[in-house]
Amino acid sequence: RVRTRFAPSPTGFIHLGNIRSALYPWAFARATGGDFILRIEDTDLERSSQAAVDVILEGMHWLGMDPDEGPFYQMQRMDRYKEVLAQLQAAGHVYPCYMSVAELDALREKQMAAKEKPRYDGTWRPEAGKPLPAVPEGVQPVLRFKNPQGGVVAWEDKVKGRIEIRNDELDDLVIARPDGTPTYNFCVVVDDIDMAITHVIRGDDHVNNTPRQINIFRALGKEPPVYAHLPTVLNEQGEKMSKRNGAKPVTQYRDEGYLPDAMVNYLARLGWSHGDDEIFSREQFLQWFNLDHLGRSAAQFDEAKLRWVNAQHLKAMADDALAALVAPQLEKRGIAAADLADGRLARICALFKDRCDTTVALADWALVFYGAVSPLEAERAQHVTEAITPAVDALADALAGCTWDKASISAAFKQVLAAHGLKMPQLAMPVRVLTVGSAHTPSVDAVLELVGREKVVARLRNR
Ligand code: GLU
Repeated sequence: RVRTRFAPSPTGFIHLGNIRSALYPWAFARATGGDFILRIEDTDLERSSQAAVDVILEGMHWLGMDPDEGPFYQMQRMDRYKEVLAQLQAAGHVYPCYMSVAELDALREKQMAAKEKPRYDGTWRPEAGKPLPAVPEGVQPVLRFKNPQGGVVAWEDKVKGRIEIRNDELDDLVIARPDGTPTYNFCVVVDDIDMAITHVIRGDDHVNNTPRQINIFRALGKEPPVYAHLPTVLNEQGEKMSKRNGAKPVTQYRDEGYLPDAMVNYLARLGWSHGDDEIFSREQFLQWFNLDHLGRSAAQFDEAKLRWVNAQHLKAMADDALAALVAPQLEKRGIAAADLADGRLARICALFKDRCDTTVALADWALVFYGAVSPLEAERAQHVTEAITPAVDALADALAGCTWDKASISAAFKQVLAAHGLKMPQLAMPVRVLTVGSAHTPSVDAVLELVGREKVVARLRNR
């Protein structure tokens, strides 16, 4: 059974680059009938925050990527890490190292001066027949992992292909600090073992940790999982996406009116492909997804493209479902829930969805049907001229008394146009500006019908 995980560090608000690292393990678990596990890597106490955890949970929930298990918190698993550390120590894979910070610095400087890669030199590594230095007094040692010597660590990365690292390039990793707390790479391995993870799908900024983690797996008598290291997501400026250079928290896209399925569609294409397919549903994606079509090169975020994908999903959505997303936005903007239950909203969505790329844009339109209208001054000046006002008054009178349906509204227009010797656009434009605030709307009779007689007549008269 496939088991994947997303293991974010809650040290900043999770952005689209991060959530893409959740999308693929989530999709792979769904596509294979496996389990998707969420693990919060919160051991960096200074930089972790509950607010960042909340954005992770909210964002994943919004995108329909809730985990099957978790969230697990690494800070709550410390006892377990210490227990496994003791096992590893008992099996002879760990040794205490008393090298001081000053000594380590001196060693590094010497190596740098000799143009060597800085690495721990194994001073305290116990070796048959090798004398160890005298244990200094009053110093708490770190614990180091006895990395295997000689040979290579290799794995078949699902994205990068075969990767081989010589063990001689890896020094003996610190796996516990002087106060006994275990370090990052060790905790990750214990978690991946305990959570029975079969596939680790993560950002390629972790690719250097992988050979070390594999060696720890083996020392614990376990086979490592399959690895897939995803290339970076770049922002529009071509830099690695990060909150420091303006990446938005993922939940902001929800607030800006993006649809979860459109986000999944867009993010899926940032590093994975199914032929030339650009627009697909969540179900289709989960049917198609596998690890064989993950891209090898960095993907670049493109907000205009995201908006376009969103617009395609918005158009394809059922009107009732759209209305259900727009209604809470209107409530937030002061419209009473009771007013929204009159059945018009889905029809308003049907009428305007083709010209909107977010649900916020749709809510902007819908607002004038329930609240007030404030036409743009430029449009009012252009269309609502002195010359046209007699015809506008005549239309208001005709609409005040006619049957309220599209055909009768249309007939009222024709009657006024004939009486005043006007063409349709000459009257329809000012009427649009006055009733819904813009000259650019779908067919005017359909729009007026939905605005409602009372509002239409009042808006035409009180201009
Ligand atoms: N916590 C790491 C991060 O946020 C991920 C570690 C992993 O997936 O193994 O970058």
